[in-house]
Amino acid sequence: MIEVNHSKIKETNRKKIIGLLLERNEITKLDISRILDISITTVSTNITELKSEGIVEDVRSLESTGGRKAIAIKLNENCRYSIGVALTPNHIKISLVNLKKEIIDNIRIRHKNNGIEELITIIKENLELIIKKYELNDKKLLGIVFSVPGTVDFENGIIKYAYLLKAKAFNLKERFLYLNVPIYVDNEANLSAYYEFLNRKDMLKNLLYVSITDGLGLGIVIDGKIYRGDNNSSGELGHIKISINGKKCKCGAKGCLEAYTSMNSLMENYNEVAETHISDIYEFEEKYIKGNELAIKVLEEYLGILGIGISNLIMILDPSCIVVGGDINNLLKDKMVLLRESAYKDNSFTNENNCNIKLADFKESYLLGAAMMPIEEFLQIK
Ligand SMILES: [Zn+2]
Repeated sequence: MIEVNHSKIKETNRKKIIGLLLERNEITKLDISRILDISITTVSTNITELKSEGIVEDVRSLESTGGRKAIAIKLNENCRYSIGVALTPNHIKISLVNLKKEIIDNIRIRHKNNGIEELITIIKENLELIIKKYELNDKKLLGIVFSVPGTVDFENGIIKYAYLLKAKAFNLKERFLYLNVPIYVDNEANLSAYYEFLNRKDMLKNLLYVSITDGLGLGIVIDGKIYRGDNNSSGELGHIKISINGKKCKCGAKGCLEAYTSMNSLMENYNEVAETHISDIYEFEEKYIKGNELAIKVLEEYLGILGIGISNLIMILDPSCIVVGGDINNLLKDKMVLLRESAYKDNSFTNENNCNIKLADFKESYLLGAAMMPIEEFLQIK
């Protein structure tokens, strides 16, 4: 028991010291000791350990207030990296981040969605390029996290079903084990929820993320952890039914929420009433920004339905924060009031003061969430 407590204290001290080093550019051991109220001996032991791992380094002598010179140390932010890889129906997106969670490199490759094997080839080529460019090895690279728009078996790194990528029961992790670093496969909405939660973790314990891209997903963070469900299938918000015998959904069923609220459905709705058809969500965005009345009307009707979906979520889980984001980000900027109105219109059980519906900071939160997960784990667990 004493042993457990001892290692727990050691872990907490180390975490606190790294936390402070992440905030400061340069700092002396004495200042660390003073600020964190940890004995100088403990600070020194930890710093020696962190130096041997290449995590901190000496920088220069600093004139301390007492006139004595002291060596300042700093975090070597480029001693560890991690990589996020997002598989989307049109792009492969890769981000490399360092220990300070700064984005060091970003790669974006457009593809024709000709099947998962073709995507694997593109990813392998580009990962190998990054690994070579930054001289990453199994010590420097903490892990690679794949973001997938579909259900996954997180434990085993398997894509269970991602119809947007035409992939079913596909072991993605297995294909990258040769890189000899930890490989994780997670759902896009989970990773977005994780990222948005990291940005608010001092204020919140729970957060829901409604992801609107080619599909409609939901990421659930409960007590600071991603909730995956007993069968890895939680958060399939897109496929709850909102209409009996309604619109056909890409999953094969009818009347799913996604059939009315994905980015695709927004374009379809516009094309149904417009004289000239559009084939890209950016064309819709352009029309909306220019004040096209039809585009505004279609978007407002769409938000009415999305609000119903969000209202259902609030009824079931009673969260204090729901973040909405994805490819819809730019369109939602001026329309959050309308979305909130729709979500609370027929809800006599709770109101806006209890649950804040917010717009995501970035439309690609999933990529940042993926890239940051191994770093966060490294900073937390060690
Ligand atoms: Zn469906």
